[in-house]
Amino acid sequence: NANPLHAEETAKFAGKKGTSSERTFIMIKPDGVTRGLVGDIISRFEKRGYKLVAIKSLVPSRQLAEQHYADLSTRPFFKGLVNYITSGKAPVVAMVWEGKDVIRQGRIMIGATNPLDAAPGTIRNTYSISIGRNIIHGSDSFDTAEQEIGLWFGKPGELASWEPANWNWIMA
Ligand code: ADP
Repeated sequence: NANPLHAEETAKFAGKKGTSSERTFIMIKPDGVTRGLVGDIISRFEKRGYKLVAIKSLVPSRQLAEQHYADLSTRPFFKGLVNYITSGKAPVVAMVWEGKDVIRQGRIMIGATNPLDAAPGTIRNTYSISIGRNIIHGSDSFDTAEQEIGLWFGKPGELASWEPANWNWIMA
């Protein structure tokens, strides 16, 4: 294949843990989209030095949202959470970002689940004040990253392997 941007068909969705090929699933929720924060959020990851390997905008089905948040299914806020994500009043923007320590760093950039506890300068602190409208999701471990990337971008060819021209200036 002469095309350097080759679509991946393997199951190694989350790259290699602890290396520069590590990947995480980041989703801007409908409130983040409605409020015009897509550009800023993408920009933060780009400027930090992370690589975008997949992106799409969609209104998730109930089934997809319920699978994504399956570990929270017994919580009292579960139904409201699924309603909020699937309402269709605005889509979500689902992405996969790649780079060194991106799973942990992504969580740090996003900030605490409750925006009132999120550190100043984090995405949630900067743009939100309610735990039920905290604008963004990020995988919280390598295992959940693998699971979530597979769930949202599981079709062959949805992830792009590529090398940014400035990669050597970011990764030494
Ligand atoms: P995180 O998104 O930081 O990984 P969790 O996995 O604990 O946090 O929760 C998933 C999402 O569920 C949160 O981002 C938030 O949108 C919602 N949520 C969590 N706790 C509450 C709550 N007490 N009330 C309403 N929504 C909540």
